[in-house]
Amino acid sequence: MLLEKLDIVNITPCIAYPEKIKVIASSSVELEDIIPYLGVTLKNKVRGINYNTNMKNLTFTLRQNRYTVHATKVAITTLDGLDQAKDCLEWIQNEINEAYSQKDKISPLTESTKNITPFELFKYTPKTNCGKCGEATCLAFVSKLCKQRIELSLCPTLQEKEYEMKKNKLIKILQESGHEIN
Ligand code: SF4
Repeated sequence: MLLEKLDIVNITPCIAYPEKIKVIASSSVELEDIIPYLGVTLKNKVRGINYNTNMKNLTFTLRQNRYTVHATKVAITTLDGLDQAKDCLEWIQNEINEAYSQKDKISPLTESTKNITPFELFKYTPKTNCGKCGEATCLAFVSKLCKQRIELSLCPTLQEKEYEMKKNKLIKILQESGHEIN
């Protein structure tokens, strides 16, 4: 067994579905080396799987929950509550240990499955260049967003009802490309 425990260290409301929660659990071991193998063993069990070689993480969806496995932590979003969070963490812990046990029989992932550019995101921004996020323009904002150097929630305009569809589209694109959005 590689991973003995995942300890919940943070619980927050989801940005897209405030009635749901996101949890972050710290890993008792370094997971970076097993992530490329986990991407292979999970392939037929989950959807929207993405291995990001830059951020060295793996993201995927199972039922309504979005998982991000990082080198030292696991994040899960869109959870109904703590009981479900514990079940999901137990499941991913077992999957990580399963990938570890099969490690010598499979070839690990070596390339990112998807990368995004600022221009892909820009069309879903408010395009007002209001500067409230701390950036001079919306393009500068999404450039930092691509590199995970800024949070989507820092654009107050996107939180307005009028921009809800665009915000949700941004969340979807970011999640599918391996970004962790709560
Ligand atoms: S706060 Fe939002 S709308 Fe204003 S510049 Fe930043 S990204 Fe654009």
